Amino acid sequence: MRCAGCHPVRPELQEIYNRLFAAFGAQHWWPADSPLEVIIGAVLTQNTAWVNVEKAIANLKQHRLINLKRLSRLPPAKLARLIRAAGFYNLKAKRLHSVVKQLEARDGVSGLKRLRTTRLRAELLTWSGIGPETADSILLYALGRPVFVIDAYTRRILLRHGLLTDRETYDEIQQLFQANLPRKARLYNEYHALLVRLAKTFCRTRPLCTGCPLKEWVPGFQSSRVPGLDPLNP
Ligand code: SF4
Repeated sequence: MRCAGCHPVRPELQEIYNRLFAAFGAQHWWPADSPLEVIIGAVLTQNTAWVNVEKAIANLKQHRLINLKRLSRLPPAKLARLIRAAGFYNLKAKRLHSVVKQLEARDGVSGLKRLRTTRLRAELLTWSGIGPETADSILLYALGRPVFVIDAYTRRILLRHGLLTDRETYDEIQQLFQANLPRKARLYNEYHALLVRLAKTFCRTRPLCTGCPLKEWVPGFQSSRVPGLDPLNP
């Protein structure tokens, strides 16, 4: 059993970041004009592609609804029609409506900013429809707090490189990153965005290791290397 607070030392995590940044450059996340827009996007992006979220947010913008008061007055049924492009729109409208009400009760984004990160994270996790990934996306991308966002792409990449066993919880993976990297929001912001980029370009369901900036870390890659052969996809 591992002691509480002990995490494996993984210098590879910094090296992986260096390689990804060298390969892809800055990703300029989160693409939004305000913290409220980030929060809305974080709720809408659950189980859907970002391109669909963009359409829903464009619709809200067109109706001048990236505004807490106006959004809070909007009935969920009307909100559902406006965010239809994001999928699961009835459910997401209810969630968004609930988040907006919670935000209002907290004096909006400025009220959230007054809370310390640990307390704020614990509170966000009590909000309807907000799980760890959404809470951490809000903390990092809307509020600039140094918390690492873990998603399915992160798990997949680390698993394929032998850095996870597939038994770790969300919080354990988050601690693995945070214990092995400087506690900096800008670094976590960029790192998560780079992992998403990696998963979409190379580390797909069927990995395209050849040409991937991390190919040297595939277990057995050096020993079994055959020029032009993808080691995970022979
Ligand atoms: S080398 Fe292969 S397994 Fe590793 S990140 Fe790239 S595509 Fe994924």
